[in-house]
Amino acid sequence: MAQDESQHASQQLPTYKLQQASLEPTCSKACPDSDKETQHQSSNPVQHVVQWRPSRFNAQAQVDDDGLVLYNSYSGAIASFSAEERKRVLSWLHPGEADMEPDHEIYKELREHGFLVSADTDELRRAQFLHQSMHQLDAMHLVLLVTEACNFRCNYCYEYFPRGNMRSEVIKGLMAYIEQRAKTLNVLNISWHGGEPLLAPRVIEQLSESFIEVCDKYDVVYHAEISTNGYYLTRELFEQLLDLHIDRYMITLDGPAEVHNARRGLFGGGDTYERIVSNLLSLKQVDRPFEINIRVNFDNSNLEAVHSFIPELRDLFGDDERFAVYFRPVGCMGGENDLTLPVCDARTKDKEIWALNEEAIQAGLPVSSFIKDILLPTGAICYAAKPNSMVVGSDGRLYKCSVAFEQENNQLGRIHEDGTLDVDMDKLALWTTSGEETDANCQACFFRPSCQGNHCPLYRMRTGNRPCSYEKRQIKQVLRTIWLQSVACESAEQ
Ligand code: SF4
Ligand code: SF4
Repeated sequence: MAQDESQHASQQLPTYKLQQASLEPTCSKACPDSDKETQHQSSNPVQHVVQWRPSRFNAQAQVDDDGLVLYNSYSGAIASFSAEERKRVLSWLHPGEADMEPDHEIYKELREHGFLVSADTDELRRAQFLHQSMHQLDAMHLVLLVTEACNFRCNYCYEYFPRGNMRSEVIKGLMAYIEQRAKTLNVLNISWHGGEPLLAPRVIEQLSESFIEVCDKYDVVYHAEISTNGYYLTRELFEQLLDLHIDRYMITLDGPAEVHNARRGLFGGGDTYERIVSNLLSLKQVDRPFEINIRVNFDNSNLEAVHSFIPELRDLFGDDERFAVYFRPVGCMGGENDLTLPVCDARTKDKEIWALNEEAIQAGLPVSSFIKDILLPTGAICYAAKPNSMVVGSDGRLYKCSVAFEQENNQLGRIHEDGTLDVDMDKLALWTTSGEETDANCQACFFRPSCQGNHCPLYRMRTGNRPCSYEKRQIKQVLRTIWLQSVACESAEQ
């Protein structure tokens, strides 16, 4: 399973949570820092008048009912306001007018969720501190290439499939490594990748059982997700994977049968659409919680077909809220077909992602939670930029990025059978320090707490440009999408 940079970035779980993004204006969770300020104000026996100002990490969008959606990238809060509330809220968020009604309920909410901060708050230092928290040692994320082979040959893939299933000494090494590290971990996140990971289900089983046992022993929270092409995902295998705590899936359908098959055929030839869809439909019978994100990759050659595919997807999966859609543009990522790929230009990509999301919501299909996750503090950072994250190849090689396997500075070292690692620390530092530390624009960006200049370190290395995510570039559209989804959910519940 291979496609663009944001696929990788959006699959990780955040390691530093201040609060979950929410569309509730009266959300009960509050920004801890803002709480402290409020408590300080009320418990101090000496009258202390706190001046408030809008956070530099706010973004906003006006929505169809003339209401307002607000987002703060440091607290992760998302809040919506009615048309009547909008004028008042906007006046408070106008610099210089933010201390007008400190006792108003909404004003208090804005403070609690970090949209307003006390005038003496050093927000840049807070962002720096958040960045340093990426070095915390109690959370780990491993991307495991259980096989580097694949049964598909998608026309836009950048992988070369040089190696097969994970070697037994690598499996032993991973088990030993996690056994040693678990004593000091609070969270372990595993992403099962390939090639096509379901070509090696026994490797997944063997490693999962070991990780789960060790995590239980040391009281470590364990999460697992998988990117699969879905061809071998029968109901029986799916239930086994759920037993192994793999409950978040990314599976690609690139349009109706004919269009999908022309882009995502079997190695050696053969269609794949019917089998994937039949597998997915059988999963609807499984009465357990899970999340299946149906990824739809688009470029100039299938864009029209993807628009007309939305009603078909709705008919197939719209009755089961565990299925959601995720639209992403195809990118040139170093594959052998890069020169001939009909990729959309940047403007079309930015426009079409959100147009497709909106059409899906209007048709009654939920959009993927990846979109909301990316707005969380640290949520837009690629795992390649996280010090405690590593990609492990099937032969035991260690990488930071899961795209540039052949790039010399991405080959960090290897894992040994006894669980010890050889890691080139200079290369590690290269991937983890190329963002906001060195980029003044990133330091001043409203999206800095989410991205930290590290949405895709590979893109920065290759182009010298800032790797802003689609979500940051079109933040108003993103907030509108989240609002539309929440309105659709509310009317479905009524
Ligand atoms: S650094 Fe590599 S893995 Fe991360 S987003 Fe960029 S291409 Fe993907
Ligand atoms: S890369 Fe772009 S979105 Fe990320 S912090 Fe820098 S300017 Fe902001």
